[in-house]
Amino acid sequence: MSQHTIITPSGTFEYHLNRSARRRRTMEIHIRHEGVVEVHAPNSFSKSVVEGFLRRKAAWIVQKLTLFGSRQALLHQRSMNDAKECFYLGKSYPVNFEINQARWGRIFFDDKGWTIEVPHRIGDAERGNYARDFLEKWFKSHALSVLKERVTYYGHLMGDHPGAVKVRSPKSLWGSCHPAKRVLHFNWRIIMAPLTVIDYLVVHEMSHLKVADHSQRFWGRVLEFCPEYKIHQKWLKQNGYQLRLPFKA
Ligand SMILES: [Zn+2]
Repeated sequence: MSQHTIITPSGTFEYHLNRSARRRRTMEIHIRHEGVVEVHAPNSFSKSVVEGFLRRKAAWIVQKLTLFGSRQALLHQRSMNDAKECFYLGKSYPVNFEINQARWGRIFFDDKGWTIEVPHRIGDAERGNYARDFLEKWFKSHALSVLKERVTYYGHLMGDHPGAVKVRSPKSLWGSCHPAKRVLHFNWRIIMAPLTVIDYLVVHEMSHLKVADHSQRFWGRVLEFCPEYKIHQKWLKQNGYQLRLPFKA
């Protein structure tokens, strides 16, 4: 039995995967009352087949978890009331609103998620844009400090330090490196990903300081400092589209 986490548009949940060689031909999902999702699958089914099945059943699974009141589902349930959730360092947290009487809004973050205080002069229709601006600023400043810290950490390991680290908002790039100027650029949305994935990206861009292209020599350097880079690369490919703010621009 192995434990995995899956991110779906209906919510994020953990599941236990049981493989069986004997005679099993089909997949089965059991949701135990403690809120544990158990998946029984034949040995011959790849993980992507299993996860494809779970994705199709995700709405039902999340609904069941909510009924059982499991902790992982509660997180989701809260978001259904207000419908917004966002990832930070690989975990999903709700975005909560409080209407205040002040002239300006504020944003806080703790283990219950973000709280955005919205002045009462901001109407319901404008609230999404208002929240988006606040969250984007929050994410950009946190992205910069997390990324700078990781770059410093890997700088010591790799014996190579860039001149500057900057965050940007490119549409489709996660990061880039200008070896001549020794500047690293990161997409601030990367801090929605788990730290292991962020570290892979940091190692990737820092490896470009020495090797500009994606040659074998380059990947050799990535491998040296991030032995499981292929897993993180794949994670980013599969889940990257989820790493965005829950309010449309
Ligand atoms: Zn590259």
